[in-house]
Amino acid sequence: MTTLMNENFKKRIKFALHNKSMREAIKKATTILKNNRLKAAEEMGDWDEWRQRGKDIRSHVIANLDYYLKQFADNVRAKGGKVYYAGQAEDVIQVVMEIVNQHQAKTVAKSKSMISEEVHLNKALYDRGIEAIETDLAEYIIQLAEEPPSHIIVPAIHKNRNEIADLFSKEAGKEISSDTPSLNAFARKTLREKFLTADIGLTGCNFAIAETGSIVLVSNEGNGRMVSTLPKVHIVLMGMERIVPNFSDLEAVLNLLPRSATGQKYTSYTSIISGPSHPGELDGPEEMHVIIVDNGRTNLLGEKDFQEALRCIRCGACFNVCPVYRQIGGHAYGSVYGGPIGAVITPLLNNDLKNWGELPYASSLCAACSEACPVMIPLHELLVKLRYRRFKAGYTSSMEHMAFKVFRHYFGNPRRYRFAMKSGYYLQRPLMRGNHLEGGPTPLSGWTNSRYFPAVAQKPFRQRWDEIQKGSEER
Ligand code: SF4
Repeated sequence: MTTLMNENFKKRIKFALHNKSMREAIKKATTILKNNRLKAAEEMGDWDEWRQRGKDIRSHVIANLDYYLKQFADNVRAKGGKVYYAGQAEDVIQVVMEIVNQHQAKTVAKSKSMISEEVHLNKALYDRGIEAIETDLAEYIIQLAEEPPSHIIVPAIHKNRNEIADLFSKEAGKEISSDTPSLNAFARKTLREKFLTADIGLTGCNFAIAETGSIVLVSNEGNGRMVSTLPKVHIVLMGMERIVPNFSDLEAVLNLLPRSATGQKYTSYTSIISGPSHPGELDGPEEMHVIIVDNGRTNLLGEKDFQEALRCIRCGACFNVCPVYRQIGGHAYGSVYGGPIGAVITPLLNNDLKNWGELPYASSLCAACSEACPVMIPLHELLVKLRYRRFKAGYTSSMEHMAFKVFRHYFGNPRRYRFAMKSGYYLQRPLMRGNHLEGGPTPLSGWTNSRYFPAVAQKPFRQRWDEIQKGSEER
């Protein structure tokens, strides 16, 4: 693994900033995704009205989650499926293993599931002698690379085609060319065999419809369909907040999700699955097991400051516009969930601001994420609230305390402010390169080495303004 996931946040950032090919790949892909989203949103007419509808539906569900979860679970059971509640990651693994053992299964074919990443299911299965096969192309790539996803919609966004060809060649034991048809052909042939031989299929769940007990899978590759129909047993891992009340609400969120994620009107495959196969049906699994996962989500429920984050429909739009994510990529966050939403939910899901409390600082607070979010989560505000909470918990460094004290001292008084600006101009001179700064000692180098740091102007704005005013009076 080449991502230093176990290193501290600063080291991961440093590593990411030196990874030129990763940064180029991410910049290119996120720019395309962002532009596609803007175009798709424009075609919808009043996009903000749609966002408001998405927000209302998701807020209503989260406020009444106990009711809708029960309704959903009752309807799954009525359709012949089995339902489990898993509080923690270990509980998810335990339930999956019980099902695996009941069927003496040896292989589990998976379609994309962020929950399985969250609970590190592949490793748990591997440790118990079970082969987990990722069948989503991007997930397959990062499985071969032994890396976690670096984007929730495009997990291998950081890889270019040559790196993918290297991984496939190693797996194939012969050279695979880096052109798209060759890469596709290899993945298709390898994965088809796995679909046909897997004992169990495991999928995530984009949405769960309470009124019918159905689960909805949204994908572009059709692998979700294969995984949920070919093996005899289908396991669904579902975050407990994935619910929508009914089909009418599903229509609204299905209009928002693909447009926000990739700019598509609809993804190539939208599958709605209601229970296992019923007598007389030609295909489908004999058993369907739905595992409803908490894994820290109840930490956010009832938290007036943070409950809003549960509205997230995992579209990834906030990643694509975030100036920080676009520079450091997903692995630097050290969590399965990167980007602005990852910086918000990771400390909350883990209930740990000591070890994850630096993530909310991975933001310029420009609010581009909040503006892009199809369910109007005020991400930048939540990041500020988390920073404050971290400060209150006493986890901020003495250096940060000192910096803010100095800031308040000079910026809280006009005379001192003017003095600081004037002396700042002279003090910065050794570092000035044109109209910006370069180099400098720590902690300043944290800015100047990788970001554009504008120099303090020789003539402060106030002085220029006074002179302009004076000039126009004299004319
Ligand atoms: S926070 Fe909003 S923009 Fe980001 S992934 Fe979730 S729904 Fe999409």
